[in-house]
Amino acid sequence: MDPKELWRQILLRVYPTVRHDQFITWFADTAILRVDGAVLVLGVPNQFAYSWIAQHYKDRILEIAKVLNTTITDISVVVDSGLANSDDVRKVLLSSVVPVETKKVRKLPNKQEIRVAPDTISYMLNPKYTLQNFIVGKHNRLVHAACLAVSTNPGSQWNPLFIYGGVGLGKTHLLQSTGREILRNFPDKVVVYLTAERFLNEVVEAIKKYNAQDFKARYRNVDCLIVDDIQLLADKDRTQEEFFHLFNELYNANKQIILSSDRPPKELAGIETRLQSRFEMGMVAEAHFPDYETRLAILQNKCSEQQVMLPPEVLDFIAYNVHHSIRELEGVLLQAVAQMRLEGVTPTVKSVGTLLRRLDRSGADSMIGVTKEQMDAKLSIRNADDIINMVADYYRIPSSELRGIARKREIMIPRQVCMYLIYEVLGHSYDTIGDYFSGRNHTTVLHSYNKVKTKLARDTKLLQDIHALKKEMGL
Ligand code: ADP
Ligand code: MG
Repeated sequence: MDPKELWRQILLRVYPTVRHDQFITWFADTAILRVDGAVLVLGVPNQFAYSWIAQHYKDRILEIAKVLNTTITDISVVVDSGLANSDDVRKVLLSSVVPVETKKVRKLPNKQEIRVAPDTISYMLNPKYTLQNFIVGKHNRLVHAACLAVSTNPGSQWNPLFIYGGVGLGKTHLLQSTGREILRNFPDKVVVYLTAERFLNEVVEAIKKYNAQDFKARYRNVDCLIVDDIQLLADKDRTQEEFFHLFNELYNANKQIILSSDRPPKELAGIETRLQSRFEMGMVAEAHFPDYETRLAILQNKCSEQQVMLPPEVLDFIAYNVHHSIRELEGVLLQAVAQMRLEGVTPTVKSVGTLLRRLDRSGADSMIGVTKEQMDAKLSIRNADDIINMVADYYRIPSSELRGIARKREIMIPRQVCMYLIYEVLGHSYDTIGDYFSGRNHTTVLHSYNKVKTKLARDTKLLQDIHALKKEMGL
């Protein structure tokens, strides 16, 4: 593939993941100048484009390039002011990438008007999720097999693939890794992963700004559409309508659709029945909580990934005592590892039992009698209250305000940070977290969590805050 065609192929894959106006603005005057051995040299017209592309798109471009050309391992972005000339032949004609209709209806914003890019990370497949590092046991053999089948034969008999199950049971992991596997098997395919919330925002944005036609055109090149947590579309009629049409269009064109939800299609209250029945047309598989042996295998796998060694009886103890979700399982392991790094001592069944107790995990209490005094004061996070107090101190606001209902910005952000940390560090469910904050429902918590996650990609102050808070917790 010559550099120009390579760039066109990359742009085809980047386009569905970027807002149209952003895409035109940042990619119109770009070109692959050359491939220097293993390095793809990307030319951009000015310093402004340089910093924007280097910051927001570089990793994604490299990820796609690696798939298309396996000799490429690195990317270098350079400024070449010649690219600003409209007749520079090195550039790819964007009309060969962008659907034609969109060009007519959209006027380009001028550069000053461009808002900061919305989070683009959610579109990307996170490399930490692969089908290879997904541990298969009795409980999840079927769902794993379905994912494998889809990844070797996308768009055929298992369409759509619908995976459902409770929080922290590996749905996102499966969705993402299936997308990744499809890309590995079919480097030419365009795979788009997004959360239902993100999809919702896209529709709202499209309705505000352009028109529905334009919205659909964005997905024209997609070969595999993955939408996570589809239950979040409940009661969003307009979005469901759009999704219905998109679903039909992709389905009829034999494009693969993969969805996840917290419950089976029929139980999706607030989702139109015509969608529910479409969700059932292919393969519906449930993600279950794994049995003890699989839990142990997951823990062992995590340890080797993180290159830590914990005594077998400690892993055994964790596997035996965590009963809710794999996220929780990982949360406890993380805590044990944090404790080990912080205190320089190897965790024991006793210390992990204390941890479990502190984390409000049931089951540990009855097994061992640890006294409160045995808790080491150095480990500062015990439960959600500790995190709330710590965040309140950090932002100098009363913790009652954090838990309260005020919607002032100076309270809202710390509150979102708080929810984010409780979820990340303690692995509590959205519902449980909602209870700490005046009984908010789980969608609100989920929304806050996603908001922080999104903002972290571009808000360095927030990133510093989170780092500082985590450091304070000894993480
Ligand atoms: P869900 O989307 O169902 O809420 P996730 O996919 O986010 O759950 O899974 C939670 C965590 O557990 C992730 O870090 C994921 O990698 C891990 N996990 C879940 N199932 C497995 C498995 N079978 N093997 C290895 N890791 C797993
Ligand atoms: Mg998930």
